[in-house]
Amino acid sequence: MLAHTSADFLPLIDPSDRLADLRGRLPGKIVLTTSFGIEDQAITHFIFSRGLEIEIATLDTGRLFPSTYTLWDQTEQKYGHRIRAFYPDAVAVSDMVADAGINGFYHSKEARLACCNARKVEPLNRALAGAEAWVTGLRSDQSGQRTAVPLEAWDADRNIVKFAPLFDWSRGEVADFCAVEGVPVNALHAEGFLSIGCQPCTRAVALGEPERAGRWWWEGQGDSECGLHVGADGKLFRGKAA
Ligand code: SF4
Repeated sequence: MLAHTSADFLPLIDPSDRLADLRGRLPGKIVLTTSFGIEDQAITHFIFSRGLEIEIATLDTGRLFPSTYTLWDQTEQKYGHRIRAFYPDAVAVSDMVADAGINGFYHSKEARLACCNARKVEPLNRALAGAEAWVTGLRSDQSGQRTAVPLEAWDADRNIVKFAPLFDWSRGEVADFCAVEGVPVNALHAEGFLSIGCQPCTRAVALGEPERAGRWWWEGQGDSECGLHVGADGKLFRGKAA
């Protein structure tokens, strides 16, 4: 039995109401950054279905799975909107590859973080330029690092409101919602890829393994982050928004 259907959410329990409330409170630019993961797909559905003026952007690292590009295309066709792509700086990537090699991220954490910085963090900065709020697909039960994820927080490093409308949903609830509403999802989820990022840095997880154990698994930490959601102090969140 499904935990939720689209009809039985209470106001502000429903993530689309949360998003509409955010849109109504803040006059400036609001951006969802999507990696086309299942949470981002649910939020994309809420935004497009409700016609909310929230921009949707993606960071095309150049190392994504073919199925992610397929889903990107399917999503644009289903909702009739383009999703704005932000790309890494070509010279920065060229210099990095010349220095560390095309798969240099396997050889040291320093090289991995440098790659994530060039391919994700710097393009993210451009995607969020001038934005008042950043909508993400973070959930509090995704990993040990994310247990304190709130609905809304102030990101002091970026001077931006960070908003996670699915913060209190389980993965099962998100999957059920997408199935009921016909939201397209990445075919790899059905093959054990619960969290999907770049192809060389993502593997399927075994039954019972944490959701994010397949990300940068060779580093052996189980809840690694790429730097998108981590501030200079190494913390994911730095206090609730006023
Ligand atoms: S996830 Fe891997 S390939 Fe993608 S930016 Fe990070 S290190 Fe590079």
